[in-house]
Amino acid sequence: MDCTFCGKKIPQGTGIIFARKTGQVQHFCTRKCEMNTNKLHRQPRETAWTAEYKKVKATRITAMKHAKEKKAN
Ligand SMILES: [Zn+2]
Repeated sequence: MDCTFCGKKIPQGTGIIFARKTGQVQHFCTRKCEMNTNKLHRQPRETAWTAEYKKVKATRITAMKHAKEKKAN
């Protein structure tokens, strides 16, 4: 199972499962990820140490490279 916030793999027997009244279930690897989601209301997309941020950053960099190549040609 992957962490809802950071995207890391959670080893079996560890981590936190957070179930909301609405029925939505969130899996967290650590309390840090739980607090970032539920208390600090941070978005994984805008938090530098998450997998989603790295993915977004990589796509942004490739898009910039393609734009530069187009300008050069
Ligand atoms: Zn996590």
